[in-house]
Amino acid sequence: MQDKSTPEDFDVVIIGRGPIGATLANLLGLCGVRTLVLEREARTYHLPRAVHFDDECMRVFQTLGLADAILPHVILSPGMLFLDADGKMLLDWSRPQTLTPMGWHLSYRFHQPDLEDVLISGLARWPHVSLRSRCDVFALDQDATGVRVRYEDLSNGKLGEVRAAYIIGCDGARSLVRRFIGSGTDDLGFHERWLVVDVLLKRNRDDLGDYSIQHCDSQRPATYVRGTGTRRRWEITVLPDEDSQDVAQPAKVWELLSRWVTPDDAEIERAAVYTFHSVIAQQWRNDRLLLAGDSAHQTPPFLGQGMCAGIRDAANLAWKLASVIRHGAAADLLDTYQSERQPHVREFIALAIRLGGIINTKAIEAGLAAGQVRENAPVKLEVKKPLLGPGLALGDLPLAGHLAPQFSLRDGSRGDDRIGYSHVLLVDSAATLPSRHARSQAGIGILTGDDAERIAPWLREHGIVAALIRPDRYVLGTARNDAELDRLVAAITPPTHVPSAA
Ligand SMILES: Cc1cc2nc3c(=O)[nH]c(=O)nc-3n(C[C@H](O)[C@H](O)[C@H](O)COP(=O)(O)OP(=O)(O)OC[C@H]3O[C@@H](n4cnc5c(N)ncnc54)[C@H](O)[C@@H]3O)c2cc1C
Repeated sequence: MQDKSTPEDFDVVIIGRGPIGATLANLLGLCGVRTLVLEREARTYHLPRAVHFDDECMRVFQTLGLADAILPHVILSPGMLFLDADGKMLLDWSRPQTLTPMGWHLSYRFHQPDLEDVLISGLARWPHVSLRSRCDVFALDQDATGVRVRYEDLSNGKLGEVRAAYIIGCDGARSLVRRFIGSGTDDLGFHERWLVVDVLLKRNRDDLGDYSIQHCDSQRPATYVRGTGTRRRWEITVLPDEDSQDVAQPAKVWELLSRWVTPDDAEIERAAVYTFHSVIAQQWRNDRLLLAGDSAHQTPPFLGQGMCAGIRDAANLAWKLASVIRHGAAADLLDTYQSERQPHVREFIALAIRLGGIINTKAIEAGLAAGQVRENAPVKLEVKKPLLGPGLALGDLPLAGHLAPQFSLRDGSRGDDRIGYSHVLLVDSAATLPSRHARSQAGIGILTGDDAERIAPWLREHGIVAALIRPDRYVLGTARNDAELDRLVAAITPPTHVPSAA
């Protein structure tokens, strides 16, 4: 029984049970890390937020064992079109409807509270993970052995405290943990007020379409997004002389929506004015305190990548925390988290700002290097995922820092379900591994051409004989010969196996 004078002790306390805190808690649950999530609110956030996530996020949800639970709540997105004020198409960002190398589709639409409910329900699978709602954290004191976390239980006004080896601030844009870390923020310069409105259709309006539309109208830029079910979203610029409260009043909202829908078509579910920011925290770790999600970075939503970036943070961080806490890896492994993730997220934010510039000004060529200009035709946009920043990847080897594909196995299952949240070595055939490699890989999964038909052609295509993939599915390094294979095996930190949740 717990001695009342000794605070409860956890490996990790996550502050905030938004999508990032809930994802991280599930990953730590998978890794067997004793985790407590403290959340101020009783329920998921009620205002409209994320509507899109990508194939990489779905792959993380697969790792959590929750993809099947999420699929009924999503629809596929055909992409986004940018139109000028006369309706002429400026930019075509169609998304393929086929599976990507991640093994999922490129773009999913969803309703953020639905996703959060699934992620939170998923926590019940882990006896060593607990969630306490209505607990407002107000103080963090680090010492040599851990962190004292103090909070108020808002349901009864009582103060409580726990200890943990590590604290992860998944506590959103106004992060308390960021303040305790003492981090400033880099401001990338974009701050705009937008009115965000979700409506529920009362009658069929197929004519609104499935594509997201960016109305690049310099008078009043606006975005339309088809949501799941009958939900439809408009995001509309608030002009400098407009009052944020006034524009969110129903009469004004209907006036602004009148080009597309009327009260005969729909009811307003939620309307709120947001200021979209573009900031990155300068310091994501101070010893035992770390940041993930909006506490570490915020982006304008034009690429639909804010939450996605946080999901990537969680996937990058959880296995490193587990390595340090459970398997004796040195704590400076955690420094590679910021060095890898920060340049990646910075690139996405910079592109989102450039897209925002197009929506505001129609200046396609000036705004976008990524598009291909075609005469008398809209520019076709393709967005390449950035590489990981410097960290663990063996950068002199091919493909290091790239996302690895997910291979379909010969039995029809998905490769990640076999691998779990673990390192895996991809080789053409187990026979090509010298036995000393096989021995030193105890605990490391191996997938060969016998398991998946596409592995051997993929290795050949890149001129390599092996690839070492990290638990977050990024390539740690590849080998062109036996000596490089030795380096790969030595680089595994530490050799542990976390099974699949599927
Ligand atoms: C209009 C809009 C559209 C968007 N569209 C997209 C999109 O299409 N795709 C996309 O990927 N992203 C999108 N985003 C961004 C996305 O919503 C956020 O990036 C995401 O919600 C961040 O998740 P988080 O878990 O980091 O933070 P949050 O969701 O903000 O969660 C933080 C949690 O911490 C809790 N908390 C804070 N302080 C404390 C404390 N002291 N003690 C206890 N609990 C605390 C809060 O109550 C909250 O529950 C959009 C955002 C907006 C506003």
